[in-house]
Amino acid sequence: MIVLKKGAVVAAAVLLCMLLLSCMGLSAVSYAGAERAAYCVVLDAGHGGVDPGVLGSVSHVKESDVNLKIVQKLQELFSDAGFRVVLTRKNEGGLYGLPTKGYKRRDMEKRREIIQESQANLVISVHQNNFTADRTRYGGQVFFRDGDENSAAFAEEIQSRLNTLSGRQVSALKGDFFMLECTNAPSVLVECGFLSNAREEQLLLSDEYQTQVADAVFQGTLAYLC
Ligand SMILES: [Zn+2]
Repeated sequence: MIVLKKGAVVAAAVLLCMLLLSCMGLSAVSYAGAERAAYCVVLDAGHGGVDPGVLGSVSHVKESDVNLKIVQKLQELFSDAGFRVVLTRKNEGGLYGLPTKGYKRRDMEKRREIIQESQANLVISVHQNNFTADRTRYGGQVFFRDGDENSAAFAEEIQSRLNTLSGRQVSALKGDFFMLECTNAPSVLVECGFLSNAREEQLLLSDEYQTQVADAVFQGTLAYLC
């Protein structure tokens, strides 16, 4: 039997109350006060159409295709959990209209328009990484907007779960990306793994690993929402 001094019991009780209150407070602001159905998660599959993103080092798989598959798995997870889910890109095509001059800018602006019109509460942009200078580099990497504490906390929750998956211990990083600047709502850009690493490329091609990555992102999001 553990005997605690009265002071210790009081301190523990105060700490527990503080934890509960902080969780309730966060929820009231960010999530639990709203119905899940009214809570909008925008899922952004990077690239598409004439822009394949990076290519797998062995299979030459297009990053855009892997991004879409993981986003579709995320769509199912968030929808099944009752969230309102909006996809920027729903298929293999880009969002730029005709592939003429300025297509990349039009594609990005369309993504921002979708995020703003959907009144997103969260944005998750999905990409795959590439680092040919060191093909041993592997593992997920999450980015957030500099100076945005909410996005940083959101990114860290996802990062810690991707770390569990990869076995690496890295922190979420500040990133200067267009997709992180489309709304004030918490936004993250998730580089799920490295297509320049042959072993990770093989994993990222498999339905099973894509499911594990999607689950890590989903669980990290739920943890952020408390
Ligand atoms: Zn990309």
